[in-house]
Amino acid sequence: MAFITVQNLSLGYDSQVIAENISFSVNKGDYLCIVGENGSGKTTLMKTLLHLQDPVSGQILIGDGLHRNEIGYLPQQTVVQRDFPASVREIVLSGCQGRCGLRPFYNKEEKRLADENMERMGIMEYANRCYRELSGGQQQRVLLARALCATRKVLLLDEPVSGLDPKVTVEMYSLISELNREGITIIMISHDIAAAVRYASHILHIGEFVFYGTKDEYLKSDAGKFFLLQQAHMHSADRGGALPEAELGGGAETALPGTEQGGGAETALPGTEPGGGAETALPGTEPRGGAETALPGTELGGEKR
Ligand code: ADP
Repeated sequence: MAFITVQNLSLGYDSQVIAENISFSVNKGDYLCIVGENGSGKTTLMKTLLHLQDPVSGQILIGDGLHRNEIGYLPQQTVVQRDFPASVREIVLSGCQGRCGLRPFYNKEEKRLADENMERMGIMEYANRCYRELSGGQQQRVLLARALCATRKVLLLDEPVSGLDPKVTVEMYSLISELNREGITIIMISHDIAAAVRYASHILHIGEFVFYGTKDEYLKSDAGKFFLLQQAHMHSADRGGALPEAELGGGAETALPGTEQGGGAETALPGTEPGGGAETALPGTEPRGGAETALPGTELGGEKR
């Protein structure tokens, strides 16, 4: 049995459904990225997985020796949390609270674990500094060290690179990949689909439709191709021009479908060829496209449900 098996889940608040027909599983060693537009229910799914919220319907099963309290969580940081007036050591140690039970202090073993994880995240030198004095990237390392105090098995990360500059973003993604290679199962929410397909082994896409499968299956799916192209096009528009190939995912393992085999004109990204005109516009990238911008796959009832 998988670590986590989700069957036909509907999510929502006060019985109002915001996402439904969600089924997927997370096995030991997986790196699952949960993607979807803002407001599609990604954070609500995280809260439901953590049992902080009841599902409207459906089931979440835990197995393969995983216990509910062995899931470490790195929440999306609010402005207030970034300003938290505690020392780095105190914050990392708070990840051991689940181990303390009713004991009102941290024991030697928990303090050792906190030190080990601070060392591992390269933040030992800040141990006595106030958390709010650290940069965004350093703060995320502190929260990762804290989550690692709670688990050696599964980490749930909600937008862990939100607000970080590009260099620190890459460092954070590498750190997360390293933890995954060391055997920690990763479940990460991300709005960055290109990064998701670069790093993840599996993709869950929620929103107007639901897709769950391996990264390769996602890349081959109409929906995956569509969203990657859409995001690439949006980046390109933001920069007012062509998008360097490197930013589309670089190497073979991350190449967009159709671009990997020395693709010619027919595989060029719409909008990136010199003078790409109206005929190359992506559906859905026109100002708030309407019915004519239906997502590929939605008309056929989605990919995999
Ligand atoms: P995402 O993480 O994909 O951006 P969320 O899970 O945060 O999406 O939110 C999904 C929807 O649920 C949004 O429309 C949001 O306004 C709504 N929502 C989020 N939290 C609550 C809440 N506590 N009560 C009612 N509605 C909520």
